[in-house]
Amino acid sequence: MKVDYIVVGSGLAGILFCQRLKENKKTFVVIDDASQTASKVAGGLYNPVILKRFTPVWNAQTQLDLALPIYKQMEKEFDMNLDYKIPIYRLFASIEEQNNWFVAADRPRLNKYLDTTIQRLSNPAIRAAFGYGRVNDTGRIDTIKLIKAFQAQQKSLGQFMDASFDYEGIKIKDTGICYKSIEAKYIVFAEGYGLKQNPYFNHLPLNGTKGELLVIHAPNLNIDFVLKSSVFIIPLGNALYLLGATYEWNDKSNNTTPAAKSELLNKVKSFLQCEFTVEHQIAGIRPTVIDRRPLIGAHKQHKRLFVLNGLGTRGVMIAPYAAKQLYDYIELQKDLDPEVDIRRFSKD
Ligand SMILES: Cc1cc2nc3c(=O)[nH]c(=O)nc-3n(C[C@H](O)[C@H](O)[C@H](O)COP(=O)(O)OP(=O)(O)OC[C@H]3O[C@@H](n4cnc5c(N)ncnc54)[C@H](O)[C@@H]3O)c2cc1C
Repeated sequence: MKVDYIVVGSGLAGILFCQRLKENKKTFVVIDDASQTASKVAGGLYNPVILKRFTPVWNAQTQLDLALPIYKQMEKEFDMNLDYKIPIYRLFASIEEQNNWFVAADRPRLNKYLDTTIQRLSNPAIRAAFGYGRVNDTGRIDTIKLIKAFQAQQKSLGQFMDASFDYEGIKIKDTGICYKSIEAKYIVFAEGYGLKQNPYFNHLPLNGTKGELLVIHAPNLNIDFVLKSSVFIIPLGNALYLLGATYEWNDKSNNTTPAAKSELLNKVKSFLQCEFTVEHQIAGIRPTVIDRRPLIGAHKQHKRLFVLNGLGTRGVMIAPYAAKQLYDYIELQKDLDPEVDIRRFSKD
């Protein structure tokens, strides 16, 4: 089989890169072994504000302007809803937090997003003496639906290999690459934390931050917004909610742990006062980088091998931007944004 690209990984990075390829009528094969789970377990939120510190997300508006039309296009292509326009309400724990919100809402890069009316919602399930601040331009991408639809489409086209990529199996020539029975012009590695197994790019400073979430059933919670306090509560429908997430820097497995479960339960009990049951628990490794920017670029010697990684804690918003950066770099010879270019970590 002859294709333009082999794409390793069908998480958000791989899928959004393939979307660029489809738009530009490039041919490709996707290889995925389901070894990483970040995109599958993600809350899927997109939110232009860091709600811990009330600061803007890096390049937020550029990312949103690019991302939302692409997700809309994918909704059309797959004939399903993927983008749920749901507001985020930040629960205030004190008068001081309310004041900080108003100060932030006055800043030029934040005033568009932070609503200055304190929301007072009477919901007996939540302790909210200081009210909430509403964030504008937020939503949720159903990443599981997106991944399933993408993989099903690629399988039906015979362009999906359910397998672990064999790094020893690449033969690099001047004219292209051979991998098993595939001849390709380029390979794009989008393996998330799986990058650690990739001998061509595992020197890059990808830390990985494990996150765990609970799915809870709370019939009396009745919220149709995302609630942000010490944890997020995201409505999924049918009284189910996603509750998370934890941050853990030592354990790099995708296994769930009792410690994360009790951390999440302790946090949620500080503001939730309705009954609920835990339905299940999920975990994944966020592909985080020391400087919180993506890892994009070509291998130093093998110019046909590329990396698309480091989407960190905000893959939904940043994946379309990162994919465009890489595509334009390869096909249009445009320079990469120096902040995402892997050459920022080269010594020479
Ligand atoms: C608990 C949690 C909550 C999160 N919540 C949000 C959120 O609300 N909003 C948001 O924007 N982001 C969120 N994130 C972050 C987001 O999930 C990531 O930024 C994003 O999913 C990373 O996508 P990726 O494609 O780079 O990696 P991954 O999703 O890890 O995908 C990599 C893919 O490559 C495959 N792969 C790896 N190695 C190989 C190999 N050798 N051979 C074949 N296939 C391979 C894996 O199986 C996987 O399918 C969250 C993450 C976690 C863990």
